[in-house]
Amino acid sequence: MQRTLVLVKPDGVKRGLSGEILSRFERRGLRIAALKMVWMDKALAERHYAVHREKPFFASLVTFITSGPVMAAVIEGREAVDVVRRMMGETDPIKSAPGTIRGDFGMELEENLVHGSDSVDNARQEIANFFQDGEIIAQKD
Ligand code: UDP
Ligand code: MG
Repeated sequence: MQRTLVLVKPDGVKRGLSGEILSRFERRGLRIAALKMVWMDKALAERHYAVHREKPFFASLVTFITSGPVMAAVIEGREAVDVVRRMMGETDPIKSAPGTIRGDFGMELEENLVHGSDSVDNARQEIANFFQDGEIIAQKD
């Protein structure tokens, strides 16, 4: 079993797509193990996107991701990191296939609706940025 961090980004929340996006993961057979609405501050945004600190788009990305609340979710399942990334599509929605979240709902490179961790190690770190252990609910059966 893997866990990954998903964020429905501020554009997705503003457009009323949080439920649609999260329900896709559930319908696929992944489980929501934790969920909360968070208005990220600059410090959390810079920590979450630390790997991009030197990129030309970093400042704009931090402004965007803090522009409104996100839905932060821990998504759990077999190969969850990879399955979620494939369901999201490419970083640029224009290059994303129909049937993916970005390919179905996005046109903008920055405002691309959704974040998903890109490795198990990064997922662990990213989840810890948003959730305490006690906020993540283990499956009973
Ligand atoms: N991004 C951007 N311009 C770029 C590349 C990325 O604005 O040239 C934004 C976009 O919102 C993307 C995020 O920065 O989702 C993080 O980039 P990354 O390369 O990690 O893409 P992801 O893992 O989200 O597909
Ligand atoms: Mg990334």
